[in-house]
Amino acid sequence: MTGCELCNPKRETEWIDNLPAGFDFNVFRCRAHHEFMIVSKHHGEWEPHERELAEMLRDILFPGKAIRWEQLSIGDHPHVHVVGT
Ligand SMILES: [Zn+2]
Ligand SMILES: [Zn+2]
Repeated sequence: MTGCELCNPKRETEWIDNLPAGFDFNVFRCRAHHEFMIVSKHHGEWEPHERELAEMLRDILFPGKAIRWEQLSIGDHPHVHVVGT
């Protein structure tokens, strides 16, 4: 979606590239909250199993950290913050 900063993220912050195979997310540090986000690549609701994938990715990249499921700034683009990253 044009103008959505989660659809077209500027690479202004720290990114984690080369995610393990099967994880189709963008992972980068939120400019507003300074925590890493796991960002889905579509709008609307989370897809089935996508939440579990996000938790699996959290376990790989940020073991022991909690996910904040509340979507703060952009409510209709599925994304989460990883607390304390
Ligand atoms: Zn978007
Ligand atoms: Zn944020």
